[in-house]
Amino acid sequence: MGGSDDRKKAKATPDAAVAAGGPAKHKPDEDEQLNRKLSHIKHKILVLSGKGGVGKSSVAAGLAVDLAKRGRRVAVLDIDIHGPSIPQLLGIQGERVTGTNESIQPVVSPAGVGVMSMGLLLQGQDEAVIWRGPLKYGVIKQFLRDVEWGELDYLIVDSPPGTGDEPLSVAQLIKGVDGALLVTTPQTVSTNDVRRSIGFSRQLDLPILGVIENMSGFVCPSCGTKVDVFGSGGGASMAEEMGVPFLGTIPIDPEFVRACDEGAIGPFLAGGSPGATAFTKVAAKVIDRIESGSDKETELTTADQAGAAPNADSADTRAGKRRRIAVPVTGGKLSAHFGHCEEFVIFSAKETSEGTAVEAEVVDVLGAPPHQPGLLPAWRNERGVNMVIAGGMGSRAQELFSQAGIEVMVGAASTDPKEIVQSYLDGTLVAGQNICDH
Ligand code: ADP
Repeated sequence: MGGSDDRKKAKATPDAAVAAGGPAKHKPDEDEQLNRKLSHIKHKILVLSGKGGVGKSSVAAGLAVDLAKRGRRVAVLDIDIHGPSIPQLLGIQGERVTGTNESIQPVVSPAGVGVMSMGLLLQGQDEAVIWRGPLKYGVIKQFLRDVEWGELDYLIVDSPPGTGDEPLSVAQLIKGVDGALLVTTPQTVSTNDVRRSIGFSRQLDLPILGVIENMSGFVCPSCGTKVDVFGSGGGASMAEEMGVPFLGTIPIDPEFVRACDEGAIGPFLAGGSPGATAFTKVAAKVIDRIESGSDKETELTTADQAGAAPNADSADTRAGKRRRIAVPVTGGKLSAHFGHCEEFVIFSAKETSEGTAVEAEVVDVLGAPPHQPGLLPAWRNERGVNMVIAGGMGSRAQELFSQAGIEVMVGAASTDPKEIVQSYLDGTLVAGQNICDH
């Protein structure tokens, strides 16, 4: 796309204000319009990945088709402005949205999924869009506000990879996103990038629905042998480490490639191949998490992201929820001087099958971050830590932890960190004085 002249030629285009370099100014009536439009959509899901090519758009499109097959009213908003692939995946490549500048009709795919995408505005398949951040924000806002979505059960937003302007705009524009779905392949290069997406979601208080490991092994159609082309289990262990739910694996499936290329995901899902079976299982889990509402209140990860009250040392947080607890350690013992510790040992506390009993397990040992205000919130975001048990800690440090939503307990004795965490979890830890308040 060359410029605003080209944009005018499309049947429906981002408006002139946006094209002129907009948007950023919030007009109250526009916000009201946007919120009114979104109030007709029950569930909003943002699909993210750290890297391109991991199957994020395919998962977004597949989930939409699966939902439609289950009778849900569903639409996809493709905010991958530079590389929109949803029209291709849903079999509407080459079609154009219709409408006026105030009202845009989405294109409905053969599977019954409404779609808005830059790919449905561009004149030609090979056109490129060269836009800066503010322009993208304006267009995404316009897509959300001016498209006639109608009454929907689900809006799935397919974002470009990474943590750039597009997912940021969506997180800012849509109030009450049900959560982010994170797609990764098993390799470390991909899981590492997804960690950043998790940090991004946490910073924006975006609940995390979970991680999907795509392209997880290949089952040979002739002999049935599973070959781990890109490895396997990387997504699951990263999710565990980051304290976010894991939703399952989808293998490499040549049928899926064909279905994506031909815009025929519906027949693929009905075909019963290993990929289709796995996909349907993962989709069912996503739907269950959203529709049963089982996730948000009961698990540490989402409660934590929602900014659970710091220092809320309630019995239920001790006994019933998964936690990630960091203990400053020196010489193998809890460090009396928080600011001078050698390392932080991070424990994951899991509920056991008995229910209330919890077990502390070391999941990470980190060198102490430099003694520098402001580093701790980032540290928390990266590591998913939501509590620190320390001997002594200065009031400023306590304040910074508290601002980051990290619960702090001070006055623990200089003994074995695991025993300390375990007794905290058992509700028997007796804290003494904050012995290092400087
Ligand atoms: P992204 O949105 O992450 O850039 P895409 O969804 O465009 O990735 O997928 C990239 C390519 O990988 C596409 O050709 C798609 O058909 C293929 N693909 C995605 N998931 C699978 C899978 N499970 N098995 C085989 N191919 C897949």
